[in-house]
Amino acid sequence: MYFYTLFFETNNSFFYRSKTNLKFMSINIQDKILALRKELNKHNYNYYVLDNATISDFDFDIKLKELEKLEQENPIFFDPNSPTQRVGGTVTKSFNTVFHKNRMYSLDNSYSKEDLLDWEKRIQKILGTTVLEYTCELKYDGASINLTYENGQFVKAVTRGDGFQGDEVTANIRTIKSIPLTPNSDFVSNFEMRGEIILPIKGFNKMNQDRLASGEEAYKNPRNTASGSLKLQDSAEVAKRPLDCLLYQVVTSERKYKTHFESLENARKVGFKVPKTITLAKSIDEVLRFVNEWDTKRHDLPYETDGVVIKVNSLQHQEELGYTSKAPRWAIAYKFKAEQVSTILNEISYQVGRTGAITPVANLEPVELAGTIVKRASLHNADQIQKLEIRLGDTVFVEKGGEIIPKIIGVDFSKRPQNAKETIYISNCPECGTKLTRKEGDAKHYCGNEFGCKPQIAGRIQHFISRKAMDIDGLGGETVELLRKEGLIQNYADLYDLTVQKVLPLERIAEKSAKNMIDGINKSKQIPFEKVLFALGIRFVGETVAKKLAKHFKTIDHLISADFETLVSVDEIGDRIAQSIIDFLSNSASLTLVNRLKKVGVQMSISEESIKNQTDKLKGQVIVVSGVFYQISRNELKKLIEDNGGKVSASISKKTSFILAGDNMGPSKLAKAKSLEIQIISEQDFLDKLS
Ligand code: AMP
Ligand code: ZN
Repeated sequence: MYFYTLFFETNNSFFYRSKTNLKFMSINIQDKILALRKELNKHNYNYYVLDNATISDFDFDIKLKELEKLEQENPIFFDPNSPTQRVGGTVTKSFNTVFHKNRMYSLDNSYSKEDLLDWEKRIQKILGTTVLEYTCELKYDGASINLTYENGQFVKAVTRGDGFQGDEVTANIRTIKSIPLTPNSDFVSNFEMRGEIILPIKGFNKMNQDRLASGEEAYKNPRNTASGSLKLQDSAEVAKRPLDCLLYQVVTSERKYKTHFESLENARKVGFKVPKTITLAKSIDEVLRFVNEWDTKRHDLPYETDGVVIKVNSLQHQEELGYTSKAPRWAIAYKFKAEQVSTILNEISYQVGRTGAITPVANLEPVELAGTIVKRASLHNADQIQKLEIRLGDTVFVEKGGEIIPKIIGVDFSKRPQNAKETIYISNCPECGTKLTRKEGDAKHYCGNEFGCKPQIAGRIQHFISRKAMDIDGLGGETVELLRKEGLIQNYADLYDLTVQKVLPLERIAEKSAKNMIDGINKSKQIPFEKVLFALGIRFVGETVAKKLAKHFKTIDHLISADFETLVSVDEIGDRIAQSIIDFLSNSASLTLVNRLKKVGVQMSISEESIKNQTDKLKGQVIVVSGVFYQISRNELKKLIEDNGGKVSASISKKTSFILAGDNMGPSKLAKAKSLEIQIISEQDFLDKLS
């Protein structure tokens, strides 16, 4: 065969004679290995990315075997990113949870031209320019993935999870052959690629044929199957599935590219599968042209899509626009019209939530929609029922958008039964009989029997222990229900009176789980104040509001003594939230709970450390952050402003105190700042000012 392999096998002694020769030989082997890897990568690329094979399967296998042999014989050249590693074989029993370096956000949705124009107006206002360019991409329907590359090498793949942290599925992702593990070097070197793991329709159908043939049940739809495949324990199984990965975003701090489009075009050049459908648009009209074109053409694509994603093309603009608490301001999804079916409304039932909010639910004649059987749909509130003019026995249209819960979008009046009676909204709580109330401006009716209405009692405890609140390990929903039924807890403060001795006699609770439960409860005393505030379950006080309140008032006592005026003077606290806080904290029953929590050591003030970093240096100042920064990141700058009592605002107005400007601040912003005579401060001056 090859000269050196022969040589290797027959002249072993030769190696020990001469070090120089050994070096010479191993360099040759390494070169050969590298050359083979490069060649096989190229063939993979041609086949899986370009869909254009330039070698027969047979010849490919020969080369792969050759490489395998060389690697086995020379383990010092092992490389997890070698094409030989694509076949899988790693078994992962449980996937590590990993924090994302950059949060993976969701996307805001739009459904009409008006929505898009509103969006455009918002961003034009923030950026201070009307000249914008957009990219239009299809919204690939699969499971999102984040691929990390260091020094041009693939190192890690993590699922989106909750956006902050996901599951590490590196071994499984490595088997997807269209993903380059060692992309060509003419690119940024440290970056993350964001993309969608999909199952092309053909491959999905083939999998199902095989399953049916072997007597198994067919998979429901490509998206769920793709997402399920990522969590298979045996990567060799994943390797057998025809998964693919379509990329849609490059995340990097290297400022090599100026636009989103340019970064994706270059990603495609170095080997990533970036669909060619991506198109530039100079106006919302052009965006709509793209949407209309693909609304029909998408059915010819080999994979499923459920909309269009529109993004601001300039990366600097993207940075300036930043993010809301859920999604980038610089992007928006436009959903294609969802699949619709009609069915019959059998009954309306009413659910009571943890805050006493009533949600009417439509119980439907079961019907199949987008691969699942739909039996129930939310009717949201009394207004919605009135708007739909819905009656029992009606034939209704049900639609499933991106959301998990389907929606009723209308009634087929031509099919209304003759005797159908107008729907009258309930006036009393279905659980406890209390008369419902509805405040002006509220969409929902409420049951005010906070401490006597079962779903509210249970719901509040469930909320209290949940991950984003007190995060109590060792205590699940069923256990809470059991403890409540047995009379051990009536409210969340009772949790802290539990002991191992008290819970042990309960059925289904073993010593170990009893101990875990009590440990978890004790550990929750360390949970920071802002989460405790959220956990209390004050109506309208979500995570973000709780954070704001904690930061502003610092202790529960300050919050309790705050009056309405003080509350609404806090940024983002409106009348509705303020009133709800006052109602809660002036209610003697909830005050008792708060005091009990305080007594057992639950955090009722922000920590010394976070107080230490806070000052009033920027109190009352409204600051716009614009441009590119070098010393600390834009997010850190924003945090600094907030920690020092200032407020970050997205757009320049008369209220702006000063502009914190990095490099490349947009010309129209500059002009606006000048015309309003607003001071511009550099990154350095700002940091000096604070230090
Ligand atoms: P959603 O889950 O509806 O909030 O939408 C956000 C998700 O859309 C992201 O996490 C991506 O996985 C997915 N997505 C699909 N195609 C694209 C695209 N072209 N650009 C951005 N996100 C996309
Ligand atoms: Zn009730």
